[in-house]
Amino acid sequence: MSTPDGMPRCPTCGEPLRFEVLDDERFLVAWSCLNCGLVRTTEPS
Ligand SMILES: [Zn+2]
Repeated sequence: MSTPDGMPRCPTCGEPLRFEVLDDERFLVAWSCLNCGLVRTTEPS
């Protein structure tokens, strides 16, 4: 679910997701969709 410009898109509505860095040291990022309100977080595996 990524686009040629590298921005992931919402799996529900297809809008580009915006991200917010929650924790620099752990590289924890929240991705949110402004259109449908989807929020997911990612951590390094
Ligand atoms: Zn969405």
